[in-house]
Amino acid sequence: MKKDRKVVLVGTGFVGMSMAYSFLTTGGVDELVLIDVDKEKALGEAMDLQHGLPYARNKIIIKTGDYEECNDAEIVVITAGTAQKPGQSRLDMTSVNAKIIKSITESVMNSGFDGILVIASNPVDIMTYVAWKVSGLVKERVIGSGTILDTARLRYLMSEYLSISTNNIHAYIMGEHGDSSFVPWTHAYVGSKCLLELLDEKGKDLNDLNDIYHQVQQAAYEIINRKKATFYGIGLALNRLVQAILNDEHTILTVSAYQDGEYGWNDMYIGVPAIVGHNGIESIVKIPLNEVDQGKFDASAKTLKDIKEEVVNVNLK
Ligand code: NAD
Repeated sequence: MKKDRKVVLVGTGFVGMSMAYSFLTTGGVDELVLIDVDKEKALGEAMDLQHGLPYARNKIIIKTGDYEECNDAEIVVITAGTAQKPGQSRLDMTSVNAKIIKSITESVMNSGFDGILVIASNPVDIMTYVAWKVSGLVKERVIGSGTILDTARLRYLMSEYLSISTNNIHAYIMGEHGDSSFVPWTHAYVGSKCLLELLDEKGKDLNDLNDIYHQVQQAAYEIINRKKATFYGIGLALNRLVQAILNDEHTILTVSAYQDGEYGWNDMYIGVPAIVGHNGIESIVKIPLNEVDQGKFDASAKTLKDIKEEVVNVNLK
């Protein structure tokens, strides 16, 4: 029997703990279990969070545990793995993390887990495929964080550029969570106004959009060069995704979702806008991409599919 609002976090590093900490300020989770290969670290993190509970938004049961805790969890979030090192691309981490995600997913499923699996470990589109394949869960119930963080970065930068609230910026980063992502600008809106029309009216230079995208694409590298890791942004983004599932929000988020031909690709995970609710991915939003953007999607999908096939051959056969 699943417990409402019980979340298990596997991987109590910077990313996982940023999400965990944010649960204390937003509320919305009743029970949080921390699992890590480093049990002492998980315990220390649990104690530290517990001591913040008197000042938290609501009471949360916080504890460490083993994989049997996944049995009645609504959501298991996996943020375990090795982090991106300075100068290393997300794809460089693939093989090491694929082995980690495979073994964690097996342990989660051996508990009898029957909820929703959320993956943030990089390269996230590939790791989500590994988790889906190993878990045997239906595709809707295995979700990658995809371009949820990249889209947040885009909305922040556009909001600064236009001096308009991030709430009114409706624009998506699609494709790989990585270098081959792109923005379908013709489908970007400010409120209900087409972004390109707005820029034209304001006499803004369209090249500014390329600069903004470039900043998004380079953001992880820029942050990692300065502070070795990125975690607050993704921590909040994961909290947002968890709340969307727990509250059956049917909200649109750019997550890594299994492709069944929606954008012309099959049997792979990639970042697309999708409606997220209690069942995980309720449906993928199909944006009618123009020829240029479909070309960018195809290039990104091909990069991921080639790597995915290599990973499957080496690690999953
Ligand atoms: P970190 O090194 O701080 O934490 C990783 C944790 O995983 C450690 O506590 C480690 O002990 C644990 N771990 C390793 N192997 C394990 C296993 N087999 N079982 C259980 N726990 C295990 O790293 P981090 O900065 O928190 O990053 C975690 C992952 O998130 C990385 O893959 C990183 O690239 C990724 N990340 C994703 C995004 C995104 O947008 N999806 C953004 C930032 C980082």
